Amino acid sequence: MPEPDPTHPQDLSRRDAVRRLMTAGLSFALVPTLVACSTGGGRSSRARQHDFADVPDPSWPTPRRFTLEPERSITPYSTKPLPSPTSGGVQTALPAGVRTRASWAGGDPVPTLMDRMTPIDRLTIHHDGMTAFTSTNVAAAQTRIEAIRSAHRGRGWGDIGYHYVIDPAGRIWEGRPLGWQGAHVKDQNPGNLGICMLGNYERQRPTNQQLHTLEHFVADSMRRHAIPLGNIYTHRELAPTACPGQYLQPRLVAMRENTGALARV
Ligand SMILES: [Zn+2]
Repeated sequence: MPEPDPTHPQDLSRRDAVRRLMTAGLSFALVPTLVACSTGGGRSSRARQHDFADVPDPSWPTPRRFTLEPERSITPYSTKPLPSPTSGGVQTALPAGVRTRASWAGGDPVPTLMDRMTPIDRLTIHHDGMTAFTSTNVAAAQTRIEAIRSAHRGRGWGDIGYHYVIDPAGRIWEGRPLGWQGAHVKDQNPGNLGICMLGNYERQRPTNQQLHTLEHFVADSMRRHAIPLGNIYTHRELAPTACPGQYLQPRLVAMRENTGALARV
């Protein structure tokens, strides 16, 4: 890993990151929450960890326009036979049932700002930590994911920090393509698959659909990448943060316990 280079975009100070976010047109109030949960930058992982104790209530940026998708298209996540193409030892095929980033992303990943993913050996679960978010609307989810990507790009990162995003309806969205190392846990991004639950689970409770999807998708990911149960983490278990929130954390703990779904993988 290279030594810090102050001129490198990923070495932005927090002040610079905030300025860039402002330049990107996002509300000031949105900045602290995004800085709070998604730590780790990319190549050098030197973004400052932020205490998540006080969650601001940001005003939301003007929604972007997306092609609307009929609500009837919502289907529960189900495991299907797994394709197994590899890239540098990492299976990068989009799992069945995951919606491609082309449906929401306002820009492509920037390879020069990211590292190649190393063999996946752990998985970390997050929330986005912004306003409470309960909408099951497709466009609302797309707008929120794009806002996160835009904010992360504004920090000088190559793309949204997470590899997958799960919305309140239980849909799974492709985030940063899995061939690239994520940016979601400070100094612990290599080989670490990042999943973000849309919403703020300090303030809201996860929906049954979300939990169902999360449980099955994490189990599927454990099988796909041969990740042991002991390497399934929440963000707060790796860093001083409230992420993924008081109402989601115990649900993950239960999934990993003896009678939980993940313990049976
Ligand atoms: Zn987090």
